[in-house]
Order: sequence, then C-alpha cells, then structure tokens
Amino acid sequence: MLQIHPVPAFSDNYLWLLFDEAGDAFVVDPGDAEPVLAFLAAQRLRLAGILITHHHLDHTGGVAALRARLGSIPVFGPANSPFADIDHRLSPGDSIQVLGHTAAVLGVPGHTLDHIAYFIPSRDNQAPILFCGDTLFGAGCGRVFEGDPAMMHASLARLSSLPTGTRVCPAHEYTLSNLRFALAVEPENVELRAREARDRALRAEGIPTVPSLLSVEAATNPFLRCATESVRQAAATHAGRELGGDADVFGVVRAWKDGFR
Ligand code: ZN
Ligand code: FE
Repeated sequence: MLQIHPVPAFSDNYLWLLFDEAGDAFVVDPGDAEPVLAFLAAQRLRLAGILITHHHLDHTGGVAALRARLGSIPVFGPANSPFADIDHRLSPGDSIQVLGHTAAVLGVPGHTLDHIAYFIPSRDNQAPILFCGDTLFGAGCGRVFEGDPAMMHASLARLSSLPTGTRVCPAHEYTLSNLRFALAVEPENVELRAREARDRALRAEGIPTVPSLLSVEAATNPFLRCATESVRQAAATHAGRELGGDADVFGVVRAWKDGFR
C-alpha cells in the first residue's frame, strides 16, 4: 500500500510525500527541507528518494539541505533541467522504480521546458497517482512561462489521457481561485458549482482540496475542456473572434486567466 500526503510549505505549496508500510518514503518537489524533515520524523519514515518535476526554486530549494541532513539521497529529475543537483536524469518515456512500484515519466513542457510528471499506475486496487508539479492544478493549470500555449495544451492532453480514477497531486493549493475563474468561463456547469461548494467547505476547515480525481478535473477544469462547446463559446466571446483548433481555445483561456482578477 502506498500512501500519499501533501505537506504544506510557503504560502501555497504542497510537498508530496509518498510512503509505504515499511517506512520508506519519497518526496516530490521539496522546495523546503524543514517541513519534510518534520513529517519524516513524526511518521518515522526514511527518505529513499527525491523526485523533481521542474527547476523552479519552490520545487527544488530544499534538496541540498535534505541531502546535507540525510546523506546522498538519489535525486530524480528531468534530463534537460537547469537544476544541477539531479543525479538520475530522466526523459519522457523512461520509467523508474519508486518504493517497489514502476513510475512512468511523462514529458509535460509548457510551464517550463524541463517539466516532467510522474505517473504510478493502479496496483492492488489502489487508484493511480499522478505527481504533476505546476502543469495541472485543481481546476486550473500552470502559467506558460517557457513554452507556448500549443505545447502546454499538448501536455495537458497527455495528462487527460490517463485513467479517469487517477489521483491528481499538484504542487500548489490554487483550487479556489481557479474555481472562481472556471465559473466565469462556465457559469452553467453544474458539476463545477458543486465542486466549488465542496472545495470551499474543505478550505474553510483547512483541508487540502487535493488530491483531486482526473474525472473531476475533466468535468470542471476549463483547461482540460477546450474541446467542450461551452468553453469554446466563452473563449470566442472573450477573444471577440472565431477560434481555430483546441490549442487556440486553450491559448485564449490561458491568456484570459492571466489577466483575471
Ligand atoms: Zn513552477
Ligand atoms: Fe511552483
């Protein structure tokens, strides 16, 4: 049995811990070492590896301190990453062993050019797990900093093709503000309204809104719904022009969100 737990850090980051009943653990994107060390100590876990999704400091800033404290823990990350402290460099299509499970490395460039995601398929009746960094968020997606909208759209399409029961583990708690935007795009989406009520109640209790399910994202996340008529219509109205393919719709919705307050 693998367990996942989001350790909060900074204002809205989640440092995901993955661990088994033997007490071995992996951490994903440790932007800070202290909260990870505290969780490992409290749960009596041994850190066996570090997974990096992309080079940004809020995802990598704790790596050096973790290794200084715990010894030379293996660090997995993208082959083309500018982050220097990766000793197992991975390319899309690779797979790695994570606590006895095989994790697939997915190429998801767009937010950064080095962005990868880690997917652990279902086994022993456990739902699949996706660590998607800053590519896919609850009801949203990452900003396109280094790639272009078509690239980001293709990356999200890749994630959309995973099993609908996949547990989506993003690196930030942005869900409520993303839902506010999603409702501006699709005010009539009933599932979206239901999700907003549910996630608002969770946040009021201080509970993370993630992991979410890929099926929920498919029904409520506008960035995964560019082929849906309601999203296409809203984007065309916002842009004031006729739109091309789904990647064009994505580009308009992403730019709309960038300016949304
Ligand atoms: Zn980032
Ligand atoms: Fe980030």
